[in-house]
Amino acid sequence: MHRRHALGAAITGLAAAGCASTTVASASPFSVAQPVVPIAGSSEVFPVRRIYCIGRNYAAHAREMGSDPTREPPFFFQKPSDAVQFVAPGVLTPHPYPTLTRNYHYELELVAALHKGGRNVPVEKALELVYGYAVGLDMTRRDLQRGMGDQKKPWEIGKSFDRSAPIGPIHRVAQVGHFTQGAITLKVNGVTKQDANLNQMIWSVAEQIAQLSQAFELMPGDLIFSGTPENVGPVIPGDLMEGSIAGLPGLSVKVVA
Ligand code: MN
Repeated sequence: MHRRHALGAAITGLAAAGCASTTVASASPFSVAQPVVPIAGSSEVFPVRRIYCIGRNYAAHAREMGSDPTREPPFFFQKPSDAVQFVAPGVLTPHPYPTLTRNYHYELELVAALHKGGRNVPVEKALELVYGYAVGLDMTRRDLQRGMGDQKKPWEIGKSFDRSAPIGPIHRVAQVGHFTQGAITLKVNGVTKQDANLNQMIWSVAEQIAQLSQAFELMPGDLIFSGTPENVGPVIPGDLMEGSIAGLPGLSVKVVA
């Protein structure tokens, strides 16, 4: 009897705490910005919930990173949502060279932006979750990524740092359709570095969504960086990166000290 009372009191206490925290949440001592990406042809912005990235999703890139593309299931990592750095089309945007690295790499990628969520989404339904697409860069402190990998430690510091995800505006599927093929190219200082086709992805965007949704509940606001083709490489302050994906406006980023 006493026990029951104690439990009841505890539950009541929890419920009260729940109420209290709801009240407190509406009156924070400071505000935290919601990261957003502008939506092309609209005054609206896309609120970013999570950023997922797939690793080694083009065979030639998997080989250059030292793995066998034929045997590996897809793997994913995340960047914090406030890693997005918006790059407006036609605007040369300064991008600060990050701390701690001496080997700072570009990875140009198609980004899928979700407006619906789900768990265990079948491949055939996966593209229904996609609101639109953008051009993005999965910027990487390659030396730190490799160093941590060699020590069997998390990649975090190599991949998930501030402004590590420059991104152009999101173009709605209604405007641009889905991307299963098309040129994906990156120039540095006018010289072509990455030059591939989206149809060379090992796992399509639909397959990535299906796979991700087995590990995580996907939600509106999630971004998926769909992997980079081969010929990743370094940039240094002063370098101009120009990324393009057929059907989307280009991304121009100037690395600054
Ligand atoms: Mn990447």
